[in-house]
Amino acid sequence: MRKDSDQVEVLIIGGGLSGLHTAYELHKRGVSFLLVEARDRFGGRILSYNASNSQNKHMNYDAGLAAFDLGPSWFWPGQSHILALINELGLSADVFMQAGEGDALYEDNQGKVQRGITGVSMAGAYRMQGGIRKITTALIQKISSKSIVNNAVVTEIEYKQECISCTFLVNDSVEVINSKYVVLALPPRVALDSIQFSPQFSQARSDELNAVATWMAGHAKFVAIYAERFWNNAGFSGDVISHRGPLQEIHDASSSHGELNALFGFVSVQAQHRQHREDELCDLAIAQLTRLFGEPASQPLERHIKDWAFDARTSTKYDQEILRFHPSNDIVNVTESLWNDQLIWSGSESADNSNGFLEGALAASVKTVSRIT
Ligand SMILES: Cc1cc2nc3c(=O)[nH]c(=O)nc-3n(C[C@H](O)[C@H](O)[C@H](O)COP(=O)(O)OP(=O)(O)OC[C@H]3O[C@@H](n4cnc5c(N)ncnc54)[C@H](O)[C@@H]3O)c2cc1C
Repeated sequence: MRKDSDQVEVLIIGGGLSGLHTAYELHKRGVSFLLVEARDRFGGRILSYNASNSQNKHMNYDAGLAAFDLGPSWFWPGQSHILALINELGLSADVFMQAGEGDALYEDNQGKVQRGITGVSMAGAYRMQGGIRKITTALIQKISSKSIVNNAVVTEIEYKQECISCTFLVNDSVEVINSKYVVLALPPRVALDSIQFSPQFSQARSDELNAVATWMAGHAKFVAIYAERFWNNAGFSGDVISHRGPLQEIHDASSSHGELNALFGFVSVQAQHRQHREDELCDLAIAQLTRLFGEPASQPLERHIKDWAFDARTSTKYDQEILRFHPSNDIVNVTESLWNDQLIWSGSESADNSNGFLEGALAASVKTVSRIT
């Protein structure tokens, strides 16, 4: 139990990639901090699991095993922050290229399928053996466990001249911690939805922050795991664009060494029609994969769906639409002048470049750390 008088230099709200990276950098520099994460796990939108070989029973994660991603899967050549971090964490040998050999498919809204189309493949993108969660797992191992807390929901922050006071709930107990800086390493919409700020933001500032769309928050991602990579053996890459659905975009999600064979897809059905229909959507997704790749697709070992639109730690009422294009999201001021610039918007949505992406989460963190130190 913390005492009211507890004080750190920096309080980080959110234990996704951005917040964990900020914690890691402050740890390296000897700056005192506490990272507070609402969920029972760290990683935020990063969510990888190992195959369980039984229907949805054990959703475990061991970074040493092959894994599939229900959140982000890709990063790209030229994304300097993420490539440097992977290198620094000693994970470069786990990076591999997204598979692209074989024909891609296009399915029109009547279900007519065209084979061998171009422009659909994600070949050239990078993935991680062990899933993207391997990066956040490695970061957590580098940070002192006393400085990061999960299952802790921040409910209020108050600027008090001499410090910022932050209240959070851990299980049923209310805790308060004071800090000089507060780093908001979470989407602005989620922050405004879950935290009471005192002093409050003006209506104009709240509107500006709520206009910042949270990348991928309105999406649901489906993964089917198979005993064999049968689509590849039949000359297909696994890449599909479909106007019939329910999966609008499908790609290979297999691990690099063949321990895990999988396809994944983004669901095209809008959130309002998805709620409480996960089993039905999984059945329809398997029927679609069978239509496209033949009978072997009808027998997955496992199927998983993660609907981010109904996860309040990622999505709000403003995020119920599937964004068709990447938003530009420029938060002009990432510090709040009413808070003496000690309240800092960080997290991917606040990045100058690559906002919404993993790279953006790190870019925002790098800028925040240099501002603080
Ligand atoms: C399905 C999907 C696919 C994606 N694909 C890609 C991809 O292929 N490549 C790519 O680059 N990007 C992709 N993205 C985007 C990528 O996941 C994000 O850019 C990145 O993970 C954002 O990290 P972050 O730390 O900024 O935010 P988040 O990961 O959202 O972390 C914010 C954290 O704050 C916590 N939090 C929220 N409220 C509170 C509170 N009140 N108190 C305490 N903690 C709180 C949350 O639980 C969360 O852990 C994808 C996202 C999704 C959902």
